[in-house]
Amino acid sequence: MVCPEPGCGKYFDQMSRYKRHINYHYKIKPYRCRYPGCSYASTESCNVVSHVRIRHFRLPKSKEKQRELEIVDDRDPKQYVETVRELL
Ligand SMILES: [Zn+2]
Ligand SMILES: [Zn+2]
Repeated sequence: MVCPEPGCGKYFDQMSRYKRHINYHYKIKPYRCRYPGCSYASTESCNVVSHVRIRHFRLPKSKEKQRELEIVDDRDPKQYVETVRELL
């Protein structure tokens, strides 16, 4: 099997090794974007929030900047942050 992580693509012939490798990816990135079709993950939850704001909401990175530009948007980027709790 091949690792599904973007930019990795390592091949494994043993399931146990494959699983350990997948765990490794999760371990270093316990915060994941749950936006449909997106596989972004990070070590910091704030990075995922910024990612959702910029990539999916098409908003400036910070709330302050958004206010400055007078953009009204009530969506909560935190709704799209998935935390893999076992890995914290
Ligand atoms: Zn991998
Ligand atoms: Zn995303």
